[in-house]
Amino acid sequence: MNTPRIAVIGTGTIGAQVLWQLARRGVDAVGYELYSPGHPRGAAGGESRLFRYIELEDMRYLPVVRRADELWNELQETALPRLRSLDGALTIVEEGTVASTTALESAELLGDRAEVLSQDDMRRQYPDFRLHENEFGILDRDAGTIYPDRAIQAAANAAIEMGASIRTESRVTGIEQRGAQVRVTTGDSDELFDKVVVAAGAWTSALLPEMAPLLAPRRLLSTWFLPRPGSDLSGLVPYIRAAPNYSYGLPTADGSAMKLGLGFANHKVVESPDSADVRVVESDLTAVRELVRDFFPNLESYPMRINPYFESYTQSRIEYVGKHPSTNNVLVMAGFSGKGFKTSPAIGELGAQFVLEQEISEEYSFIVGQDHQPF
Ligand SMILES: Cc1cc2nc3c(=O)[nH]c(=O)nc-3n(C[C@H](O)[C@H](O)[C@H](O)COP(=O)(O)OP(=O)(O)OC[C@H]3O[C@@H](n4cnc5c(N)ncnc54)[C@H](O)[C@@H]3O)c2cc1C
Repeated sequence: MNTPRIAVIGTGTIGAQVLWQLARRGVDAVGYELYSPGHPRGAAGGESRLFRYIELEDMRYLPVVRRADELWNELQETALPRLRSLDGALTIVEEGTVASTTALESAELLGDRAEVLSQDDMRRQYPDFRLHENEFGILDRDAGTIYPDRAIQAAANAAIEMGASIRTESRVTGIEQRGAQVRVTTGDSDELFDKVVVAAGAWTSALLPEMAPLLAPRRLLSTWFLPRPGSDLSGLVPYIRAAPNYSYGLPTADGSAMKLGLGFANHKVVESPDSADVRVVESDLTAVRELVRDFFPNLESYPMRINPYFESYTQSRIEYVGKHPSTNNVLVMAGFSGKGFKTSPAIGELGAQFVLEQEISEEYSFIVGQDHQPF
């Protein structure tokens, strides 16, 4: 099989990048997308995602982020809108924690691209963040904001430019082995491919029930807060904070509001984005409102915008990039566990290499070799 015909199911964050990488390699690649690239119904809505080098959990991601950074720049060359604004971001950690050790280790590797900021430094330079006594900051100079809708659209466009096609508003309902090939079924068509990549985000376990024990789809809320009267947001920058409760935030591009989100413990379990409850009740907001009261003296106490998004998690929080348990020639890429946007171009490249049986760098062995356990 010299140049296999490959289907990519889902052209969201990861699928659009896989499609781009396949098209760059001259593969006849076809994307299937429930909506259209850049839509807000999956894991990628809400206008911004954090790009960062400083790690809180796993140093093995550092080379993956480095490769992603290079590919983000290559993708930018194909696109008119700005895909990222890298004006720096803060990592806020508590002294003596595992997260602070990992963050300091990555800061050391980044040399002058990272700066450790004491309590006093933080108070002077970033007074709009009210740190706890035992917290300090690290400025990650090459970090910042990715614009996810544009980024996905840019990857999809770049793939199309290089010969791929995308069937938009097209839901795949079945994937099954047919001899040496794989049949992809939608409501009104079926097509045979040599190989299939499933990158269906939080929908993956509904589409591939055998994957369900390994993936936990969750509903994540993004909440936007205005400044209090008399304040503005000029002192706020994108940040991530590991403890006491994991949270992150990004000012909106026009500087009018701060978007805030919380970690895994605050996400609702769902079966699939299709059936998930998208209503937001007051108790869903308790934790983020506590965060604002405690940490952001200049923000209003009630959000001005609230939106749900959907993401799948693995137990280890390392993404599942591997063969489907029983269907040959199907690669599954899911479970990006709340951190998959920044690395998506590198992971897209990994997916293309995997499905084409090309050499995979040793640096990805912790991902492709991960022994995923059921929840
Ligand atoms: C609120 C929130 C904040 C986040 N913040 C960050 C951050 O700051 N930095 C970071 O790096 N990461 C962040 N993440 C994580 C990151 O956004 C996700 O890891 C990443 O977007 C997951 O990509 P995906 O391709 O798996 O899913 P998606 O982007 O949702 O793509 C899946 C695609 O598959 C399509 N699809 C599904 N089923 C079918 C079907 N049957 N047929 C056809 N198409 C189908 C869907 O329509 C969708 O387009 C955040 C996630 C959320 C939810």
